Amino acid sequence: MTSGTFAGKVGLVVGVANKRSLSWAIAQAAAAQGAQLIVTYQGERLEENVRELAEGLTDPLLLPCDVTNEAQMDAVFAAIDARFGGLDFLVHGVAFADREDLARPFSQTSRDGFARALDISAYSLIALARRAAPLMEKRGGGSLLTLSYLGSARVFTNYNVMGVAKAALEACVRYLASELGPRNIRVNAISAGPVKTLAASGIAGFSSILQTYRDRAPLRRTVDGGDVADAALFLLGPAGRAVTAEVLMVDAGFHAMGV
Ligand code: NAP
Repeated sequence: MTSGTFAGKVGLVVGVANKRSLSWAIAQAAAAQGAQLIVTYQGERLEENVRELAEGLTDPLLLPCDVTNEAQMDAVFAAIDARFGGLDFLVHGVAFADREDLARPFSQTSRDGFARALDISAYSLIALARRAAPLMEKRGGGSLLTLSYLGSARVFTNYNVMGVAKAALEACVRYLASELGPRNIRVNAISAGPVKTLAASGIAGFSSILQTYRDRAPLRRTVDGGDVADAALFLLGPAGRAVTAEVLMVDAGFHAMGV
């Protein structure tokens, strides 16, 4: 019999690419607290990575899920329903923008690139929430969590279209929280400080952003996956039961600073 705050809870984690992924840090922390996990990977390219990582989990369900593929998303939730008969929490750690759109001047953002970035990074939360809600209702409620960045509200060099996508994502959090709250389903975001991951490697000048946080954040440091995961467990689990529609800053306080 497993023990821990998440014993008996079933969670879906979307967005694991490798051991550095923020969603993997959250998955590990939830599993350590007894959660039973379904972990998805985007395509064959990442399957082996995720299979290797998941070897440490207890009886995980591993499934392919490209969030632009409606049929694949349907299959994920059908498999969860068949195996577990419900879902308690969902971690959305997915983002994408074309590399060119993260390098050229913002006014040169392509129409296609804009649509793709918003589709994968923001609309996907709606698409997943729509499917998760009925499964969460079967468990008397649930908790959805996504990952955002301060670039939603402030300008960071080269963050460009991803900042617009994060602004949309945070608005989606509020609208979903409003709609799903009466069914006891909570929807929140963590706005994490910069962490060196695969997604972060697409942002030119990322190292200098990290250094700025070390120099100027009130805690004079950057954050790591463990910092994000601990905050995630609060929002996903019973301690966060009255928190919804929130964007929680987990950034060593950087967001509060002016000159
Ligand atoms: P990551 O490990 O690269 O995770 C991003 C994930 O999104 C990858 O697994 C990626 O798969 C996946 N993805 C992209 N397109 C997808 C699609 N169509 N369908 C399914 N999955 C797709 O990087 P991360 O930093 O942990 O990012 C996780 C989240 O945290 C993102 O929303 C990111 O914006 C956010 N965040 C990151 C930071 C940071 O500094 N790292 C700070 C604040 C917020 P592929 O590798 O196959 O593309």
